[in-house]
Amino acid sequence: MTTPTDTHGRVQDSFSAYLDGELAAPDKALVEQHLAACLQCRTHLEQLRRTLGSLGSLKRKAPPTFLPDIQRQIFTRSSGRFFGQRWRLFGKIPFEWLSMAMIVAMLAYYILTQHGAPTSVSPTP
Ligand SMILES: [Zn+2]
Repeated sequence: MTTPTDTHGRVQDSFSAYLDGELAAPDKALVEQHLAACLQCRTHLEQLRRTLGSLGSLKRKAPPTFLPDIQRQIFTRSSGRFFGQRWRLFGKIPFEWLSMAMIVAMLAYYILTQHGAPTSVSPTP
């Protein structure tokens, strides 16, 4: 036979499994039976449930609008200095394409001049 003190310990040890629904039926029945009779363990379980609940809400994924919302808020609070000006500027002037075109033009020029020049050493006058 187990003494009531043992039951307290055993019941409280299985609380996290009980809250996760991982407890086998006989153990679950034992826990619930004890909880019905024991205020101390009910309080303990309630505290654990609250702790796990707040942890669970921390682990919750951010909504998909999380980042745009923050960017919009920064944009608004910085009166357009961040996350607005930059995108508008990039919309007007495609720097990426400009630099790409520049590189391609330089490469083409280099290749063309290399092909045009004789491979042999040209005689000096
Ligand atoms: Zn108890």
